[in-house]
Amino acid sequence: MEKYDVIIIGTGIGGLTAGSLLSKYTKKKILFLEQNNVIGGMTSGFYRKGYYMEAGTLGISLVDYFRSLLHDISPSLSDEIKKQYYKYVICDKICDGRNIIEVEEQYVKMFPDNIQQIRTLFSFIKKKVSILKEFLHIFNHYQYFKSGFFGKTLILIKVLPVIIKNLWFFIHYYPQQINTLLTKIFGSVDTNPGYYFANITYYYNPAIFMFLGVWMEYEGGIGIAKNGYLELAEKIMDVALENGAVLLKNKKVVKIIIENKKAIGVETENEKYYADSIISNIDLKKLLLEMCPDFTFKKSAIKRITQARPSESGIILYMGVSISNDELKKYIPETEMLYVHKDFKPAHDLFSYLKTCSLQISPSYYLNETREKEGGTSIIIHTSIPPEHNMPWFDMSKEKYKEIKDSLITILIERMESLVPGISNKIEVIDIATPRTIENWINSSNGASGGFSWERKKSFMKTMLLTKVYSKTSVKNLYQVGMFSIQHGGVYGSSLSGMLGAELVNRKKF
Ligand SMILES: Cc1cc2nc3c(=O)[nH]c(=O)nc-3n(C[C@H](O)[C@H](O)[C@H](O)COP(=O)(O)OP(=O)(O)OC[C@H]3O[C@@H](n4cnc5c(N)ncnc54)[C@H](O)[C@@H]3O)c2cc1C
Repeated sequence: MEKYDVIIIGTGIGGLTAGSLLSKYTKKKILFLEQNNVIGGMTSGFYRKGYYMEAGTLGISLVDYFRSLLHDISPSLSDEIKKQYYKYVICDKICDGRNIIEVEEQYVKMFPDNIQQIRTLFSFIKKKVSILKEFLHIFNHYQYFKSGFFGKTLILIKVLPVIIKNLWFFIHYYPQQINTLLTKIFGSVDTNPGYYFANITYYYNPAIFMFLGVWMEYEGGIGIAKNGYLELAEKIMDVALENGAVLLKNKKVVKIIIENKKAIGVETENEKYYADSIISNIDLKKLLLEMCPDFTFKKSAIKRITQARPSESGIILYMGVSISNDELKKYIPETEMLYVHKDFKPAHDLFSYLKTCSLQISPSYYLNETREKEGGTSIIIHTSIPPEHNMPWFDMSKEKYKEIKDSLITILIERMESLVPGISNKIEVIDIATPRTIENWINSSNGASGGFSWERKKSFMKTMLLTKVYSKTSVKNLYQVGMFSIQHGGVYGSSLSGMLGAELVNRKKF
């Protein structure tokens, strides 16, 4: 039986980063085990009837850091990500997300009875975003993690004056949850405009700095894989394979083999594989609660992980339409456009919510002809699900599930029809992903798409500080990377955790 230096469970962006760095810079023998026949997890894509669809991720936050990280894996990889800027459609006007004044004016039009409150909110956003910008100008997140102890200390010393100058912001506002602030400004988050702004981020009720991060993203831009995320995942995997790594697909790991409190290997449904270190890129809850039966965790650790709630997930509509890019651009001019419904209303269930919620619509204009279907366009539509409208996705029968999916699809097609008249006659592919689809795809509890919840008491993370990454587990030689090891996960965060997990195995920095 062949023994490896490192086994990586899962090929999400965290696992890919860890494996490519280790195989390239340490020449360790790496084995990737992936349960699916496609790599990349949520940072990937798939084909239906010749249409290429992104599985989940579209716009990468903190794109400059992510590009630096890719560059460190292999210089040409950073060219795979290009930068672009969000566009907003509010009250029928296309706004450039970088122009916050224009966005504010459109919200004033959208909520004419609450002008003063909208002004208060935007004055808050503008002031606080400028603090965060000043902070991030000095504090380069990626550089911080790349640095050793002295480098880190130096960065912290440099950033200290900004923290002291804005102490109230960092102590009072930074950890606060956004709904607290919105309730203060608007009186409630159950009615508009509070309800609207409470639902603006993908993650329910995040800390205020996450909410501010959304506005910073509009200014700073987001990354998009220039020819799709499947290609990005494959190119990162190539770095590992060229350096001797082995990839086995369709291998679902079911158990971690532990001897004398040390992880020594893994079991799939019918094989065992052994290695000196194991890096898990999968759901931390499942890893610790279900896959380590031979290890006795401390009671407090079990309590903490049992209580931790996975983040919410959303709905993704995948459409393939026989409309050329040029034709579709007359109606939807760019990719990653956020369409805000003029009559967005508080809803009593998911169906009514979907009728007026904001939709992020992303046609595949950015793909080159190797991925693009000739004469056609793939369109991905993302929206979040407020937790109160989530459904018992996992408990319903197949028939009921199909019925619900069909109803959701019908609502979203109607909404697309109002934007692109006649589109429903041009549909060649249509499907929808729910949290159940996402759980089936990446094996994350409740289809979590961003690791653990932001709800502070239910989060596994003890701190909201973005300088904290949990890469170690209580089991010796078993490490954790990916969205469950850093608050908010996301592509950059998950990838960064991959680098940090690899450093732990390597016992030194790359
Ligand atoms: C709809 C949606 C939109 C998103 N949009 C964005 C966005 O725009 N920007 C952004 O930054 N982030 C976005 N995210 C979040 C981002 O995609 C994830 O946080 C990130 O990709 C998670 O990466 P990961 O390394 O944790 O691995 P994952 O993507 O979770 O992959 C885990 C891998 O492990 C495999 N696996 C699981 N269990 C096993 C097992 N037992 N044995 C073997 N293999 C296993 C899975 O098949 C999968 O390949 C989005 C997520 C979703 C769902």
